[in-house]
Amino acid sequence: MKLFLKLKKIVLDILFPLACLGCGKEDVWLCNECLEKIPLEEFFYCAVCQQKSLRGETHAHCQRDFYLDGLLIASQWKNKNLRQLIHKLKYNFVQDLKIPLGKILIKKIQQANHFFTPALDSGFFDGLIPIPLAQKRLLWRGFNQAQLLAEQTTQYLRIPVWAEAVKRIKNTKPQVGQKQHQRQKNISGAFLCDLKFIDSLKNKKILLIDDVYTTGATILEVAKVLKAAGTKEVWGLVLARG
Ligand SMILES: [Zn+2]
Ligand SMILES: [Zn+2]
Repeated sequence: MKLFLKLKKIVLDILFPLACLGCGKEDVWLCNECLEKIPLEEFFYCAVCQQKSLRGETHAHCQRDFYLDGLLIASQWKNKNLRQLIHKLKYNFVQDLKIPLGKILIKKIQQANHFFTPALDSGFFDGLIPIPLAQKRLLWRGFNQAQLLAEQTTQYLRIPVWAEAVKRIKNTKPQVGQKQHQRQKNISGAFLCDLKFIDSLKNKKILLIDDVYTTGATILEVAKVLKAAGTKEVWGLVLARG
């Protein structure tokens, strides 16, 4: 297996030589200057009505039957460099890209802190949970990109990553190309809280991490099982709305 991974790396290095995606500078996937040029999403929006909210909180009047208390969308899918970073991480398996992508997530938290209190980095959240991948996907990719992003984010937040707290118990069909209600139906019942974590989840504030937010069906379903397990608040942090 180790030999296979080494060979995989050598082949990937040949196919995808190391150069900045933005400017072509050698020996780096994204130079600092090009990273700085990826703009943060300027405002914060309610995940339900998609109107502005202070820092991504779900409006009180939008909360009915909705399980996500807030959503932070770091940047914009229309940014080509960001799209390429996400694509190369997920489909070319360049795990080092977790570093610039993690920096973008951290910048979004800092942006939220800049305007409002309590600061999201001062114990506002108790734990980070990466959205689990379907088993088949995990075996194919060899890693969960959301977990890599969570591990990067916590270098700033300094709270535990509970990667095992939520299990994906159903291999669902790919969500691409499906309508919202179909996605919701497809993903329903796909997640379960691990019994070992039930006590640690009670009354806690959780930040869910994923790469892209499309219709939100997946992140909402995870938020739903966490709320059923007694968590107090569940927020999401993603790189972009895809
Ligand atoms: Zn560059
Ligand atoms: Zn709203």
